[in-house]
Amino acid sequence: MNSGMVYFVGAGPGDVDLITVKGKRALQQADVVIFDRLINPFLLTDVKDEAKLIYCGKQPCKHTLRQEDIQREILIHARKGKTVVRLKGGDPAVFGRVGEEAELLAEHQIAYEVIPGITAGIAATMYSGVPITHRKHSNSFAVVTGHGSKDDGTPKVEWEPLAKGVETIVFYMGVKHLRTITSELIKHGKSKDTAALVVQWGTYSKQRTVEGSLATIANKVEQANITNPAIIVVGDVVKLRSKLGWFDNKQLAGKGILIPSKIESNQELVRSLKKNGADVYEHNLLSQFENIGRGQLHQIRQLSAENQLVFLSSQSVYTFLRALGENKLDLRKIDSSIYAVDDTVKTTLQMIGIQSSLASRCELRSPVLIGGELEIESMRHEYPQSSEELVVNKQKVSQKDIEAFSRLVAEQHVNTLLVTSRQDAIQFIKFLELSGFEKNSVVHNLNVVCRGRETSLVLKAADIPVRSFIENENIMTVINAKETVLAVER
Ligand code: SAH
Repeated sequence: MNSGMVYFVGAGPGDVDLITVKGKRALQQADVVIFDRLINPFLLTDVKDEAKLIYCGKQPCKHTLRQEDIQREILIHARKGKTVVRLKGGDPAVFGRVGEEAELLAEHQIAYEVIPGITAGIAATMYSGVPITHRKHSNSFAVVTGHGSKDDGTPKVEWEPLAKGVETIVFYMGVKHLRTITSELIKHGKSKDTAALVVQWGTYSKQRTVEGSLATIANKVEQANITNPAIIVVGDVVKLRSKLGWFDNKQLAGKGILIPSKIESNQELVRSLKKNGADVYEHNLLSQFENIGRGQLHQIRQLSAENQLVFLSSQSVYTFLRALGENKLDLRKIDSSIYAVDDTVKTTLQMIGIQSSLASRCELRSPVLIGGELEIESMRHEYPQSSEELVVNKQKVSQKDIEAFSRLVAEQHVNTLLVTSRQDAIQFIKFLELSGFEKNSVVHNLNVVCRGRETSLVLKAADIPVRSFIENENIMTVINAKETVLAVER
């Protein structure tokens, strides 16, 4: 039988860029992705449009996919010959149950690979300024589960050797039992003054860290209201944090920024936002498909010398020409004059042997706007009302993008929406519409920042409250402002 392949992939601790290259590749090839709650949902935007996504954290009705169900799902899809990715937070082998899941595959002779990931205990610790080992301060470390098999959920641990023999101890899943953990360690020989640290949402921009000693940490964590996912680090190395802290205090700490498109001209801005500590999620929320049917062909056949064809994007040039080719039509027989919306489109036309003029420089009497649905929507106001419109591309949303976006918002990984152009504003509104999101519930908790007055007008017209609109140089300040009511006009 043609049996599939299963990849156990470590998604890394949180920051989307901390997945391995190999893990990302597997994700891009997957037919089925079975993912945990603790993975960064943005990783899902990498999967194929047609891939099946199975979530095994808490479901809306609050029950969790049980371990047996997860294993059954993996088996079913692998047996159908699919490439299955089992995507797990951190590293699959560190409290990730990869042992049980792989064992089942081995029993059923299904091929699998394990692609390691960066585990939270090491990464979150270093992101809070603490190296887990240090030549002077710690020659050993242990990772320990803080949630155990005892009836009350406390961990079943040999406390004495742990307390006496290991210099740095990292507890996973332990916040709930922090008091038991600290008192057991003290009882079994660790000084109550031993430094301790708790890191929540490590490696995300929203990472929070609380530092104290075995005697004080539990109260401090309670006061700061830190809950899972968090790790507890105990040991002298924690004291290095005051010197080595490098991540927590960046200017944009705590900012999760969604940019609803991915374009070259934003790259410098994105780099600088990331460098200053923000999580930046840039993604084309809509994908294009060609929209050439009988109606469009009829329109093409009607084109005459009276018309001026205005291409609104390079994509529309290619779609238009392909439509001609596939329907045995000849561009030379169309005697309309040809215009480009901007220099990029002009160059595209030139590269395939078509000379055009720039539309903005000419008075057009009977233009036909050729473009994608949204391009036409965003540009029609610049052309006479009598313009004809030839929609050659339309937009669609894919399930994986809906899944990624809704989880990013629900888990509060995103708190800022950055809209850098009028076109993006239109795309974002269309995305909400096509994916069925309730607009208010989405934008309610988002600080909406946009570039340019026109962009802000489009958003406001769709009832999306814009906190601020800005020009490039001010983006950092505005995103960072606590109470943003800045409106920097051109
Ligand atoms: N396989 C994962 C651990 C899964 S157990 C890994 O290697 O990291 C889940 C626990 O991991 C959480 O309860 C928490 O203790 C820890 N954890 C996962 N992600 C974390 C993060 N970003 N910051 C802090 N702790 C995290």
